[in-house]
Amino acid sequence: MSASHKVICIVCPVGCIGEVSIEAGQTPKVQGYICTRGKSYAVAEATNPLRMLTTTVRVRGGVLPLLPGVSSAAMPKDCIAVGVQMLSEIVVDAPIKAGQVTYAKILGLNVDIVASRDIAMRTL
Ligand code: SF4
Repeated sequence: MSASHKVICIVCPVGCIGEVSIEAGQTPKVQGYICTRGKSYAVAEATNPLRMLTTTVRVRGGVLPLLPGVSSAAMPKDCIAVGVQMLSEIVVDAPIKAGQVTYAKILGLNVDIVASRDIAMRTL
């Protein structure tokens, strides 16, 4: 089985457009990129695309109702939608400090969701 993936390199502003051909059991063939960083990026994007997850979660007792958060590392692109759905169902209690883990090991991955900012407790 073989597959070909057109990938635009986003590693630098040049934006090379190339192609990664994958055949079972073979090293991917790459063409169209002018440096090794682009080749590595394109192979990763074609074989195991990763993304950072950014979203908000609800806050209980805070001065703001929503807390922005980000994943501690890039995670499989296929996991992003279900991760966001899962996080839409949680509530974290104020006060919250930037960098605090709000959801550990999301989807069983070695990736935590961490707060992007402080949120103080509501006093009234
Ligand atoms: S292949 Fe190299 S030069 Fe081209 S966009 Fe990617 S990083 Fe930039």
